[in-house]
Amino acid sequence: MGPRIGITSWHHDPTPSLPRQRGRGWEGGEDYSRAIAHAGGIPLILPIPPREESQGEGPQEALFDTFLDTIDGLLFTGGEDIHPAFYGEGLQERCGEIDQDRDHFEIELVKRAFNRRMPMLGICRGIQLFNVVLGGSLYQDLSYRPGTAEHHNAPNEKRDELIHKVRLVPESRLHQILGRLELEVTSTHHQVIKALAPGLKVSAVASDGVIEGVEAEDYPFLVAVQWHPERMLWRDPKQLGLFRALVEAARR
Ligand code: MN
Repeated sequence: MGPRIGITSWHHDPTPSLPRQRGRGWEGGEDYSRAIAHAGGIPLILPIPPREESQGEGPQEALFDTFLDTIDGLLFTGGEDIHPAFYGEGLQERCGEIDQDRDHFEIELVKRAFNRRMPMLGICRGIQLFNVVLGGSLYQDLSYRPGTAEHHNAPNEKRDELIHKVRLVPESRLHQILGRLELEVTSTHHQVIKALAPGLKVSAVASDGVIEGVEAEDYPFLVAVQWHPERMLWRDPKQLGLFRALVEAARR
């Protein structure tokens, strides 16, 4: 049996009108699960637990341990914006939709998985999440970063199209995985990394300087990209290498 890879999910309704709305649903992405399965892993979608009602704090301790004991690696998926309070900023006008239950769950999950040195791959929101948890910050919208191309935020009907080029850093883990120094990628993000977290190094950059890939130093496997490799597999099979690398790291 292949290694089990936990994949983060999202709510159908990220911002419920009632503070403790019952009956909300989650969903996972077929593209992510299929990519993990193709790479030889067993995809397991992790539901987002509600923050504990009595204390209004993070989900129960035991739940994290159970999740992390059950899986061998983690894939952090795309999605909503992370609340800027997590990187010490107030909410700006052009910040997008936020799911606070998802934020609390994923931030705690990254911290605990990091302490266990569990292999992790981050995609889109995932790269932003790693950067925030490890002490970096984000631009809340592309427009707040001087000189940033608008094409990063391609409309939804172009979500599967190759939008812009990225350059990989020679000898980075990402370069080893993808085997090229330049590639074209999908791009449907409206936030980007501002201050890079200590412990992360840049592994890919767009022509306007936007950070498109990072990896952790002195860590078994922590790689993240701002684009969507799971949407590109049919036209760029090398992107499967990212999922393979996660699965292989999880196997060890
Ligand atoms: Mn981009």
